[in-house]
Amino acid sequence: MAKKDYYEILGVDRDASQKEIKKAYRKLSKKYHPDISDHENAEEKFKEVTEAYEILSDEEQKARYDRYGHAGVNQDAGFGGQGQAGGFGGGFEDIFDMFFGEGGRGRRRNGPRKGADLQYRMNIDFEEAAFGAEKEITLPRTEECEVCDGTGASSPEDVESCAKCNGSGEIRYKQNTPFGQMVQTKTCDRCGGTGKFVKEPCSKCNGQGQVKKQRKVSVNIPAGVKDGSKLRIRGEGQAGENGGPAGDLYVIINVKSHEIFEREGDDVICEVPINFVQATLGDEIQVPTLDGKVKFNIPEGTQPGTFFRLKDKGIPHLNRRGRGDQRIKVKVVIPKNLSQEQQDMLKEFADISGEEINPEHKGFWQKIKSFFEK
Ligand SMILES: [Zn+2]
Ligand SMILES: [Zn+2]
Repeated sequence: MAKKDYYEILGVDRDASQKEIKKAYRKLSKKYHPDISDHENAEEKFKEVTEAYEILSDEEQKARYDRYGHAGVNQDAGFGGQGQAGGFGGGFEDIFDMFFGEGGRGRRRNGPRKGADLQYRMNIDFEEAAFGAEKEITLPRTEECEVCDGTGASSPEDVESCAKCNGSGEIRYKQNTPFGQMVQTKTCDRCGGTGKFVKEPCSKCNGQGQVKKQRKVSVNIPAGVKDGSKLRIRGEGQAGENGGPAGDLYVIINVKSHEIFEREGDDVICEVPINFVQATLGDEIQVPTLDGKVKFNIPEGTQPGTFFRLKDKGIPHLNRRGRGDQRIKVKVVIPKNLSQEQQDMLKEFADISGEEINPEHKGFWQKIKSFFEK
């Protein structure tokens, strides 16, 4: 079947101006747009109209069409008016077409794309890390425009398939190389590779399909979270493109240090100062824990640096049952600036104790002696 004349398809004279051609195309593309037309051959007609417009709206192609007819512009109709490379002839090009041309169509540039991921650094308190928290953050991000549903168009009828690339988002062209003619593709400059052309842009987003917003996102901090943890919140990143899903939000946790507690794994370490009398005689003291103060019995004769363990008073394990322990590190404080009376009593204590005041003393000097006798 002979190809229909492009002017005939658009219903314009051969000397029609670009303005008239465009006007005719607009009218017909609306009439036959497959999404809105109920004409029985809408899709075929739409393609025909689009192809005719693609050629006639391009001055260079139009001139070639006027001179050589379809053979001058149609890729499938041989090499017509275009320069043919010598040597390998057309067969080589067909092979390239097969491998790169057709294959390349699989990598369309106008497909849905996932939005970019966002990162947010969050400072939380020691206790919030231990027991979890619900935090609300405000972040600037792009979102799909709700007026146009991300299409960027004032109304659905204002979106049409790009006439220059037939909606593929890329333009194929032939290039002469020493090995013959090759078919290359490049991103369509009319639609920027989207394959769509918007006649009347959405006034809310200026045709971008996306708007910048300050969005409040609530972040659920799980109990037992560690410093430097990365929480992933699906779908709270930047908006996707061409109907693609939104990116993800990553919240990086920075746990503030605590005045009295330190963390080691899921254990909480707390240094508790006691005086030397308490260490010597033993005492009941108050110990701070994450759950509040608890009573603890220091046994008599407690040495400095001793650790005591309070079971299950540490940090809850992340995503499983149970808790770590609290470890109490005993710090024995040696008193300074004693009063005369205190000094006298300590001296008296030393006199009564004699050599016994330091039970480890004897053993220590014996070790020194045998060390030098070696
Ligand atoms: Zn295009
Ligand atoms: Zn919009």
